Amino acid sequence: MEPTHEDLKSMQTLLAHQKLSERAKTFKEFSSTQSFSYMRKIVSKTDREVSVEDPITGKIQQMLMFASNNYLGLATHPKISEYVKACMDKYGVGIGGPPLLNGYLKLTEELEDRLASFKSKPSAMVFSSGFLANLAVVSGVASGDDVVIFDQLSHASLFDALKLTKSPHQVFPHNDMISLERLLEKYQSIGKRNIYVCVEGVYSMDGDISPLPQIVSLCKTYGALLILDDAHGAGVLGENGKGTASHFNVEDEIDIEMGTFSKVFATCGGYIASSEDIINYLRFNSRQYIFSASIPPVVMATVLGGLKILEDEPWLRISLGENMKYAIEKLGNFEFCAKPEGGIVTLRIPEGMNIRAASYLLHHKNIFINPIEFPAVPLHHERFRISFMSHHTKEDIDKLATALEEVWNDSKAFIF
Ligand code: PMP
Repeated sequence: MEPTHEDLKSMQTLLAHQKLSERAKTFKEFSSTQSFSYMRKIVSKTDREVSVEDPITGKIQQMLMFASNNYLGLATHPKISEYVKACMDKYGVGIGGPPLLNGYLKLTEELEDRLASFKSKPSAMVFSSGFLANLAVVSGVASGDDVVIFDQLSHASLFDALKLTKSPHQVFPHNDMISLERLLEKYQSIGKRNIYVCVEGVYSMDGDISPLPQIVSLCKTYGALLILDDAHGAGVLGENGKGTASHFNVEDEIDIEMGTFSKVFATCGGYIASSEDIINYLRFNSRQYIFSASIPPVVMATVLGGLKILEDEPWLRISLGENMKYAIEKLGNFEFCAKPEGGIVTLRIPEGMNIRAASYLLHHKNIFINPIEFPAVPLHHERFRISFMSHHTKEDIDKLATALEEVWNDSKAFIF
């Protein structure tokens, strides 16, 4: 039987009181029941169709991939592969050191310059993950005399960044501009040295776009600095995929922008783009930059190749947009949240549905989508997160809609 939220919560309490060896055993038992929802073993490239190994029979199953952030299909783009191979021949597969020491290549400089111009900022720096980039921004710039105001639905990395900073912080309800203004008013009148406002361009769990023009205007009124995490907007929104700020034409108004290579670029690593002063300051003050190894040249080349494709092949974004419009039409009978300009659809589940049971049924219909559970979303707000790619076909989307309808009408999806 599938564990419920309550099981999960009590398991977390149980784990907290166990010795490490006992904890590992409890988790092993728990995770052995989850193989159809988590850590499925993919044995092919991440394309619109993937091959997945059955954890019990070992058989290979062809599945439609609707769970990857590889929105434009760059993970398998032949021109990027060619460029990566050429860079690998020149630079090898790794570096073995952090950027301040031996880990800075000519390729790193080229990548940082390209990222700076991609984000219309004077300077940029690269991290080994977007998570680290987020830790570095907030813990690097905000100090005890400052305050950080942030959206309630911010990514886990921001919450962890706040644990590392000495500055007080205050959350505002998701996209609630009235609450944001109240907080700005409050901290301006207290006379905080710097007020930082942290928001995302496209929120990963709902796929909604933040009201950036209003946020920019509030930041200007109250003299606050705006930090934008555009992990999911970059590559998808704006002119040539330059991101959410470009989409709203407010690129010059963002003080610090953070992004990741783990979404549209379909690899790993992250970056910060900002003024030269802030980037230089972070290079010598961010522990996440100083004490962590550089991304390997093959990853740098993947992103450089991806940036070129964003400019040269605008039809990939057009095709993603057409797929999103078609999907929104096809999923009309479901409760979902989506923006046609993005690549994500989040599907609410009906009351009483067991998301893991539903996920299991979808898996056996060859549909690979991600179930999202606590703690990624609040308790009792489970959902499916569907990611579309530019090279999905209408037939793929029809198959997805049919499978969802069947599972929604299947009583087995409601058994705990
Ligand atoms: N910010 C947001 C909004 C994200 O969705 C993610 C990835 N889930 C990150 C930051 C972290 O990026 P990375 O995967 O590169 O660590």
